[in-house]
Amino acid sequence: MKYFDLHTHTVMSDGDCTPQQLLDTANSKGYGLGISDHLFCCKLLTLRDVEHYLNELDRYDVLHGVEANLGENFTLPHKLDERVDYVIASVHSVQDLNGESLQLGPYFCDRAGDEGALPYTRTFTQDEAKYYLEQILRIYEFDFKNQRVDILGHCTVHPFYDALLGQQHLSDWQDETVALCKKYDVAMEISGLWHCPDEELIRKAHLAGVKFSLGSDCHQPKHTCNLDYALNMLHKLGVAEDRLFTA
Ligand SMILES: [Zn+2]
Ligand SMILES: [Zn+2]
Repeated sequence: MKYFDLHTHTVMSDGDCTPQQLLDTANSKGYGLGISDHLFCCKLLTLRDVEHYLNELDRYDVLHGVEANLGENFTLPHKLDERVDYVIASVHSVQDLNGESLQLGPYFCDRAGDEGALPYTRTFTQDEAKYYLEQILRIYEFDFKNQRVDILGHCTVHPFYDALLGQQHLSDWQDETVALCKKYDVAMEISGLWHCPDEELIRKAHLAGVKFSLGSDCHQPKHTCNLDYALNMLHKLGVAEDRLFTA
């Protein structure tokens, strides 16, 4: 079985590695590679940028992916969409109570241990966390229904999930996330960088028949193609090969 790292970033968005560097690492580990730079942010801002990105990927033996921002319009025109092998969609921001964008970037930087990242000190009450978790479910449902989402990226990596750990509300949220992935045939990503989802959620998704996708979400050389957590989970839970997402 050849495993694929489908969640990777290059210098074409906010990663430090070139496609060739990623490919060399993937080859040395025996993994297949998909590149999934950020769509409509960082450096891929226009359709022309996206076309250029896909042309670049054509030069390498890699799957052509993108990582889109859930809650935004990320639908590509057919001519470009048909050149994309898979779309990972992830929550990178939510709307706060004033309708302003609450960016999760600073949380990600701290949690990933990025050099020079400031500690993420913002806290959320349990009611606030519940509010944002509900909003995220609505975003899932809307985007799964209306846009192309093949893979749900790093679905528990936000401070709202952390705020409710161990609570029944979170268990219900997990069930609803699994049900939406199942209903809309969206694969759930198991992330090497974030060590997410936790075993409980992966177990629920497995029982429900949801497919899985593996991704390192690497931005830096030290994280490139690190699928250790994901592969441990697959083996621990006995996930069969035919339950892995294929582009
Ligand atoms: Zn992401
Ligand atoms: Zn990513």
